Amino acid sequence: MTLDITTLRVAFGALAVTLFVLFYTVAFRQTRSAYSAWWCAAIAFFFTGSFAYLLDGTVHQVWANPLGNMLLVMGATSVWAGARTLRTSKPAWLQLSAAPLLTLLASVVDSPATNTWSGGPVFLGMMSLTIGLASWELWRLPSSYSRVQAPLAFASGFLALLYLGRCVAFVAGGQDGHVFTTYFGSGITTLITMLLLVVVSFSAAALSAEQIATDLRRRADRDSLTGLLNRAGFLDLARVQVDRLARTSSPGTLILADLDFFKAVNDTHGHPAGDAVLKAFADASTDTVRSTDLVGRYGGEEFVFLLPGASVARSEDITREVSRALRGHSAPGGIQMPTVSYGVAALEAADYDLDASIAAADRALYAAKAGGRNRSVRAVRPPRRTGSAEQVQAHFRLQ
Ligand code: GH3
Ligand code: MG
Ligand code: MG
Repeated sequence: MTLDITTLRVAFGALAVTLFVLFYTVAFRQTRSAYSAWWCAAIAFFFTGSFAYLLDGTVHQVWANPLGNMLLVMGATSVWAGARTLRTSKPAWLQLSAAPLLTLLASVVDSPATNTWSGGPVFLGMMSLTIGLASWELWRLPSSYSRVQAPLAFASGFLALLYLGRCVAFVAGGQDGHVFTTYFGSGITTLITMLLLVVVSFSAAALSAEQIATDLRRRADRDSLTGLLNRAGFLDLARVQVDRLARTSSPGTLILADLDFFKAVNDTHGHPAGDAVLKAFADASTDTVRSTDLVGRYGGEEFVFLLPGASVARSEDITREVSRALRGHSAPGGIQMPTVSYGVAALEAADYDLDASIAAADRALYAAKAGGRNRSVRAVRPPRRTGSAEQVQAHFRLQ
C-alpha cells in the first residue's frame, strides 16, 4: 500500500481545521487558559504548515517549503510552551523562537527551489527536540496533577521518538534511503500525527475541563476580598488537619482574631479604607505563619488560624508577630491600623474537637475584648471530672 501524500495532507488539513474549531469553542473559550491557547496555536501552525507543503512542485516551493518547515516547528514549539505553562508561568521567548528560526535558516540555504527536503535534518531534529521537551515537561508534573497528563506525555514522547528516528534515518541514508522512505516517510508520519492530534486534543479538552472545576472549587473556598480561605474552606481543611493531629496526639492551636473597634475605621475613613485594613491583616497573617498553617476569614473582621504542631506559648508569640506586622503596614491616607484581640485554644485541651476548640477560642476572645482589647487570651479546659466550664487562664497585653 502506498500512501498518497497529497491526499493525506488534505485530510490532515481538514482534520486540523475541525479540531481547531471544536477545541476553540469547547475548551479555549470557556477556560481561556494559557495551556488551551497554546494548543489552539499549535493546531493552527500544524494546519498552515501542512498547507504550505501543498505548494511543493510549483514555482512557490522556494518560499513555501521553508515556511512549511518553520510553521510545523512553531506548532511543535507551541506544544512545548503549552506544557510549560502547566508548571511555570514564564514563557521562555528566546528558547521558543530559536528552534523555528534555526529551521527557517537551514531550509532557506538548502536549495529550497529544487529540494523538497531543504533543511531536512535540522527540521526533523527540531521537531524531535521541541516535542520531546513538551513530553519532559508533562512527565515532570506531579502525578496528582491530572488524569490526562500521562496520555499527553505518552503521545508527545512517541511523536518525539518518531521524529528522532526520521532524523537519524535521514542523516544516515538520505531522503531516498530505504529505511527513511519505508518506515519514516511523510505519508506514515502524517497519518500518525493525525491520530495523535485527536488524542492530544481530547486530552487537552479534558485538562481544560479539570482546570475549570479546580478553579471553581478554589473560588468557592476563598474569600474574594482578602484571598484567604473563607469559613467553609477553612473548616473543610481544618477538619482534615485536626484529625491528623488527633491520630498522632500532636499539639496544635486554634486562634480566633478580631480587629478592635474596626467599625470606627469604616465610620471615619470609609468602607474602602476598612477593606484595605482587612487586606493588610490578611497579608500580615500569611507573612507571619508557615505555609503549612491555615488562615481563614471567619466573617466580617474576624479571622481564624490553625497552627499544627504549635504550642499555646508559640501561638501567643505568633499573635504578637501578626499584630506587629499589621502595625508595620502602610494604611491608605495614613490612618492608624487597629489593634487586634486574640483567643487561643489548644486543640488537645478540647479533645481534638474542632468545633469545641473554636468555641473555646471564641470565649477567650470575648474575654480579651472584655479585658481591654489589644491582647491575647489563652483558653484552657479544666480536667473533665470537675465538670466546670471553660476558663480563661491567662492573658497579656500585646503592646
Ligand atoms: P470590637 O472591638 O468590639 O470588635 O468592635 P468592632 O467595631 O471591631 O466590631 P463591630 O462588630 O461593632 O463592627 C464590625 C464592623 O466590621 C461592622 C461591619 O460593617 C464591618 N465589616 C464587616 N465586613 C466588612 C468588610 O468586608 N469590609 C469592611 N470595610 N467592613 C466590614
Ligand atoms: Mg472587631
Ligand atoms: Mg467582630
